[in-house]
Amino acid sequence: MTKPTSTKPTSLSQVVANPSCMDDYDPNSMPVVKAREFIKQFLNPVVETETIALRDSLGRILAREILSPANVPNYDNSAMDGYAFNADDITSYAPTKLKVIGTAFAGKAFTDEVKRGECVRIMTGGAMPAGADTVVVQERVKLEGDTITFSEAKFKRAMNVRYAGEDLKQGQTVLAAGHMMRAADLGLIASLGIAEVSVYRKLKVAFFSTGDELASVGQPLQTGQVYDSNRYSLFGMLSRLGVEIMDMGAIPDDPDLLEKTLLKAASTADVVITSGGVSVGEADYMKLLLDKHGQVVFWKIAMKPGRPLAYGKIQGNKTQAAHYFGLPGNPVAVMVTFYQFVREAMLVLMGQPQPAPLPMFNVMCTEPIRKLTGRTEFQRGILFTDADGSWKVKPTGAQGSAILSSMSLANCFIVLNDDVGNLDAGAMVQVQVLDGIV
Ligand code: AMP
Ligand code: MG
Repeated sequence: MTKPTSTKPTSLSQVVANPSCMDDYDPNSMPVVKAREFIKQFLNPVVETETIALRDSLGRILAREILSPANVPNYDNSAMDGYAFNADDITSYAPTKLKVIGTAFAGKAFTDEVKRGECVRIMTGGAMPAGADTVVVQERVKLEGDTITFSEAKFKRAMNVRYAGEDLKQGQTVLAAGHMMRAADLGLIASLGIAEVSVYRKLKVAFFSTGDELASVGQPLQTGQVYDSNRYSLFGMLSRLGVEIMDMGAIPDDPDLLEKTLLKAASTADVVITSGGVSVGEADYMKLLLDKHGQVVFWKIAMKPGRPLAYGKIQGNKTQAAHYFGLPGNPVAVMVTFYQFVREAMLVLMGQPQPAPLPMFNVMCTEPIRKLTGRTEFQRGILFTDADGSWKVKPTGAQGSAILSSMSLANCFIVLNDDVGNLDAGAMVQVQVLDGIV
């Protein structure tokens, strides 16, 4: 992670009032990494917690660490269907011959002791009987009457046995506070017998689109109008993050309406997101309102798509000011800026102190790429397997910031850093995968 190069300002208002208080701060050419670091300093995560049923905790952030109340597994047990015996019975010079004296099922233990020369038929998960320390799998033995015979040259004591505490030891921290619950975690916590967990309350996020040209879906489109698609992609991205969503509609470029909506949003939500109206040359209503009701910085980010971006805090009628993200209006730029700035900030606000950055790795790009140095580009790409089975990437096609079909086609961003210029086909590029399995 890159460290902020500037001295930490005391407050957002100080930066807004006097941008030169930060070294290297140029709002008109803000590097992506720096913008991310800047935002991070001013985030106040939610603190209120609630206790909820384990199943409901998927995607939520743990407010308290979870300690293991017991060993998992709770007792030594067999990892295979086979026969449990004492490894001292193995000799290197002859096949091992043992008498079967009973059966241990999962959930129904064999309660006698296994003595030398004896074994117990055991099923996967069955508790290891006293006296036995090793399991031979059933496919390796010859059963005749009540006697098994097997020869295992490389047999080791404790083979095919799962030990008590092998997964988790009693008292151990299983999941730390700030952890986001995923499918495996639900199972893991259930394996400890814990039915409820303490999580941070859901982050409330209000959003609205701005623009006189916006029509809502279901209405006929007049000349010069476009359907408001940003609210839909924002809805999708926010839903995936698991926040509480407040959709405040498409608001025309009307100062009174915009002000009312902005204040209502900031009075009810922890975070307010708008799209459109923050680029230079717009009717300046949003900028004036944001200055009037909050402390907001306006940047031109050195990136494509997604140049204009506003970040700050808006004071509604509650004590805590709402965090504010003013995203560009162009539909692809909305999604790119969301993933590159808002997502990570939102995870911090939700209670995850150190969210993992989106993973990036290098693959070969099969097509040439046109790119200017001095800015970061997030081109939409398709990762695919070629004939020899290796993963490669190609751009989706036209990369305009209004071409939303490029986002639908894409399964990754091709991330081209500031210093990267035009690339020939066959060059290695960094990609960020958009789909995940958990
Ligand atoms: P703006 O940032 O408001 O200048 O908008 C930039 C471009 O994005 C313009 O072409 C707008 O029509 C378009 N745009 C703004 N908001 C939306 C929206 N909610 N849905 C689709 N397109 C939009
Ligand atoms: Mg606009």
